[in-house]
This record gives sequence, C-alpha cells and structure tokens, in this order.
Amino acid sequence: MKERIDILGAGLSGLAAATILAKAGKEVHVHEIRKDSGARFDGDFQGIENWTSEIDFFEEMKSWGLDPDEFKSNAFDVIDLIHPDDVITNPVTNGTAFRVVERGTDEHCIDQGFKRMAISAGAKIHYETRVKPEDCDIIAAGPKDSSAIAFGEIFHTDHPNHVSFQLNDKLAPGAYSYLIIIDGIGLICTCLWRKQKKSGRYLNETIAWYESHYELNRIPIKRVGGKGDFSLPQKYTHENKIYVGEAGGLQDFMWGFGMRYAITSGVLAAQSILDECDYETEVRKRLVPLIKTSAINRFLMNRVGDRGFKFVANYWMRDQRKKGDGLRFMKWVYQPGIFRKSLWPIVKISMLRKKKLDDGRVVHRMPFRESLRRDNWEPSDKALDIGEQWDKVRKTGASLSFSESDS
Ligand SMILES: Cc1cc2nc3c(=O)[nH]c(=O)nc-3n(C[C@H](O)[C@H](O)[C@H](O)COP(=O)(O)OP(=O)(O)OC[C@H]3O[C@@H](n4cnc5c(N)ncnc54)[C@H](O)[C@@H]3O)c2cc1C
Repeated sequence: MKERIDILGAGLSGLAAATILAKAGKEVHVHEIRKDSGARFDGDFQGIENWTSEIDFFEEMKSWGLDPDEFKSNAFDVIDLIHPDDVITNPVTNGTAFRVVERGTDEHCIDQGFKRMAISAGAKIHYETRVKPEDCDIIAAGPKDSSAIAFGEIFHTDHPNHVSFQLNDKLAPGAYSYLIIIDGIGLICTCLWRKQKKSGRYLNETIAWYESHYELNRIPIKRVGGKGDFSLPQKYTHENKIYVGEAGGLQDFMWGFGMRYAITSGVLAAQSILDECDYETEVRKRLVPLIKTSAINRFLMNRVGDRGFKFVANYWMRDQRKKGDGLRFMKWVYQPGIFRKSLWPIVKISMLRKKKLDDGRVVHRMPFRESLRRDNWEPSDKALDIGEQWDKVRKTGASLSFSESDS
C-alpha cells in the first residue's frame, strides 16, 4: 500500500479525502493553486442538502470522522417557494431540510473548517503551488468547463434569517433564483442554465423582484458567482488517479447541489486507498444513480418554461398536503420510477455530448445551453436603478469575484 498520497486541490472533496487518509497514518500532501481553501468563493452562502439519503448528512459526516462543528451552519426546515406567477407557498419538514454554510476564507466558512480538520489530522497543505496532475493520486481540482453559472449579490440587511427559492424562467433562464439571509447578511443569486451575454442584467432584475416582495433594506457589499461543470465520465479512476468532486463530474445536474457529492466522493476515495472499498464500485452504487436521475430531471426541466415550473410547484405542495412532509417530494425527485428511468437513453443522446478531455478521460458532459428568444427582454426601471447603484458601489472598491469571462 502506498504511504505518500498527493491530492490536487484543497477544496471540499480534496480536504475530506486528506483528513481520512492522514487520520489513518498516511503522509498526505495537498497541492492548491490558490492562496487558501475557499478562495474560489467569496463569502457566498450555499446549501448542503439533506434529501438524497434517509440519513442526516451531518450524522453521516460524523460517522466518517468529519466534524460539522468545525464550521458555522444554519439548519432550515422551511422555505418560501416562489412560483413563476409570484405565488409564495411553504414547503416544510420535521427536522432539517438543508443547512446553509458560507464558502470562502473566513474562519467560520466550511472550506476553512475542512482545512482545519485536514491539518489537525496531519495533512500538509501547499498553497499557491502548481503540480502536475500526473504526480497526484487524487484529482480534486473542481470544475473546469461551464455547464451553468450562478451570479449573486451579497448585502447588509435587517431582515431575519430566511431562505426563498424561486422557480422563474425569465429571471433565471432554465433554472431558479434564491434569497438567503443569515445574521444580517443577505445573498440574492440567480442561476443561468442557458448562456447569456450579460448575466448582470438577470441579477439586477432578480434583485428588483425580491426588493419589491421582501422588506430587505439592502445595502450592497459585493457580487459573487461561479460555474458548475456537469458530466458523466466513463470511469472515475483513470491511469491510477481517482477523480473526486466536480473534477470527476460529480455534480447535481438539476439544481447544482454539489457539496454533498464532493465530500462523499472525497471520503470514498480515501476509503478506497485504505482498501476499505473500491472507489469505482462505490461511486457507481451510491452517487451515479442520483446524478443520472438529476440529469433526467434536468432534461425534463429544459423542456418546460414557467408553465412546467408552475406544475412542479403545485405538485410539490399537493405532495406535502398528502404526505405531511415537504421533504418527501425532494426525496422522490431523486428516486426515479420506471417512466423517468426509461428516458435515460434519450437524455444521453440529446442532452449530453461525448468529449475526450485533455487528460484522456472520455465524458458525456452537458454543454452550456444557448439562449432562447424569450431570454431577451427590456429591463425594468427598478432593475436599471439597481444596476446603477451597483456601478456606484463598485467604484467605491466593492469586489466583483466573477465575470462573464470566468464562465
Ligand atoms: C455560485 C455557486 C453556488 C453554489 N451553490 C451550491 C449550493 O447551494 N449547494 C451545493 O451543494 N453546491 C453548490 N455549489 C456547487 C459546489 O460549490 C461545488 O459542487 C463544490 O464546491 C465542489 O467541490 P470540489 O471539491 O469538487 O471543488 P472545490 O470545493 O471548488 O475545490 C476545488 C479546489 O481545487 C483548486 N484547484 C483548481 N485547479 C487546480 C490546480 N490545477 N491545481 C491545484 N488546485 C487546483 C481550486 O482552487 C479549489 O480550491 C455552488 C457552486 C457555485 C459556483
């Protein structure tokens, strides 16, 4: 068994693997191109989902020896679900539907919590270094290409803690927008599952929408964003290297909830190196069925506009009335029946493109979809004001950690 393990990327998947391996006594080196863990993000809130398995994810983390108390998280059991016609309803569950964490380099961020766990287990992290992937055992370098992007604004607010999730094909082409407020800091984000020339236009209009429906007293701080890379590789180990997290295409095609897959795959990679399981087999058993289902769901979502979104929102609420638990719908979404499963061959042919990557891996990836005619609309006066407000704030030194060219 190899004693020294090199990992490319000190994000969630790489650090999860590093912690388990170092705890087991391996000499672990993590090589990170950026100056710190979490530097890919800039203080944005993300949700760790609790619906792709019956076990609570934090309990699962604890069973692996990872400590969720190392970083700040806020559990939610209810959201505002905003339908495309602006009706707001409330999916609710007994327990935790998801937890909001912050991404970035501040001490309370999840990335820093994972960094602390890896270091205290004995792993060595080398920041601002560039090593060849060929010299690493685990590739955990995050997304490479764009299949979709998210773009958001962080602001001060006096609104209490809150999460809203909006299905709206105009404000978030093909996808959804969200509002997250934690302890006086808000994030309004729009996700674009169709490529657009000016993503700022969508964010301004989305902010305008939220401002007219919630008392936010918004004072902008900065704008953030990033890309998601969705693909299904033919193999998850290639030339003796294990691919984890988004570097291995392990992302949720439907909504982009990739954190849980990243951490889980990092753990499975470590367990496989420790001869406790076979990575390829475990990933195919535990994660690939969920990802395939998310791809089928994405295929269906791509076919519908707001009318389809309204149907989904109504179905969700009907399901909650019947079963008494809003989370059952989300669990059902990731467990396909015969109809959805039967669509897989069509999804593979029509939504995914076969591609040979530079490292020789063959993947079926979801390209960034082209925009549609309905994506062109005139911005509202309020959205134009919000754009001007941001230009002014930016001139005073506020950061923009994402641009069109990043996608
Ligand atoms: C705006 C946005 C919002 C999101 N919201 C959510 C959400 O709400 N819930 C959710 O579950 N997921 C969300 N995601 C997805 C989630 O962030 C990712 O799926 C997850 O972080 C992937 O983890 P990872 O370990 O694969 O990559 P990362 O955590 O990104 O780590 C990869 C690391 O590798 C480093 N790296 C890259 N190239 C190299 C190289 N050549 N050499 C060395 N190091 C390298 C990077 O700097 C980075 O530190 C969101 C993503 C974005 C962009």
